[in-house]
Amino acid sequence: MSGATLLEGKAVADQIRSEVAPRVAAFTADVGRPPGLGIVLVGDDPASELYVRSKLKTASEAGLRADLERLPSTATLAETLAVVERLNRSEAHDGILVQSPLPAAMGDDAEHRVFDALDPAKDVDGFHPANVGKLVQNRAALVSCTPIGIIELLERTGIAIAGARAVVIGRSDIVGKPMALLLMHRHATVTICHSRTSDLAQVAAQADILVAATGRPGMVTKEFVKPGAVVVDVGTTPLSDRAAVERMFPPGSTRHGVFLKRGSLVVGDVHPEVAQVAGTLTPVPGGVGPLTIALLLRNTVQAAELRARKGGKHR
Ligand code: NAP
Repeated sequence: MSGATLLEGKAVADQIRSEVAPRVAAFTADVGRPPGLGIVLVGDDPASELYVRSKLKTASEAGLRADLERLPSTATLAETLAVVERLNRSEAHDGILVQSPLPAAMGDDAEHRVFDALDPAKDVDGFHPANVGKLVQNRAALVSCTPIGIIELLERTGIAIAGARAVVIGRSDIVGKPMALLLMHRHATVTICHSRTSDLAQVAAQADILVAATGRPGMVTKEFVKPGAVVVDVGTTPLSDRAAVERMFPPGSTRHGVFLKRGSLVVGDVHPEVAQVAGTLTPVPGGVGPLTIALLLRNTVQAAELRARKGGKHR
């Protein structure tokens, strides 16, 4: 039984892409080259390969220059930093994205070291501390793509954020924290939850807008959701274990059929039973996912425009 309205991300992502297209054309005509994105991929993590391929394809289709800088899984931190430095200096690249995760062998602080090395003006993922600091002060130009994509989805579908009680489950630098800040700047009253939160379901059930970003399949059940709430499911976890899939999708359901056909299924943090109580719900796949890439395009074009305005000579 499904009572919730499904909030698909594709329509809003298409809208954002159509707004970006004339900006790409104008930049290319004015500056004499397209906006450029450099993607750094270290190692051969299959999920990262997939994300990077999709980002390259979407960027090229949008008329951007998109270059992949590949390093083997044995690459050192120094080698990775050297690629970042080269892209920082490149006139042809306005945006740089370093795909997470970096190989574990690079060390615990490798991602911070790499993000710290990015030119903040080219940091299209919004991970550099200068951009994070600006986000805290509500004056950022480049903000992490997934959370700003969720804000676009909510605002463009007429969901009121100001005055709403919002609960974000997850406190990562990539999703949870920027999500909470963006909601707060739009005047929601925000609670951030994590793995040590007591009475999590009760806290979550106070939310008018509930954002789940944990990577725990089906963790958010009916008890977590106030009737009529807006539920945003950020989680994307590939499951290949049949029992785990059947805890969310029983035999005979459409998604179970997809699992049988493919041998794996990408699932969200929100259990399908939530559709019985939520007012609005983003599906997985097809909810938040399409927005992340659309916002990467917009951030890259924005970075290109800002650089061109400042330098006037990035040809
Ligand atoms: P992450 O860095 O692993 O962070 C997960 C967060 O969830 C942590 O703050 C953790 O709490 C919290 N958490 C884990 N188990 C919990 C539990 N049982 N109860 C309450 N909180 C719990 O993950 P992430 O990078 O933020 O990503 C989250 C999910 O979003 C993943 O499935 C990822 O694949 C997906 N994602 C999707 C997109 C997209 O475009 N659709 C983009 C980015 C991420 P602690 O801090 O206490 O450990």
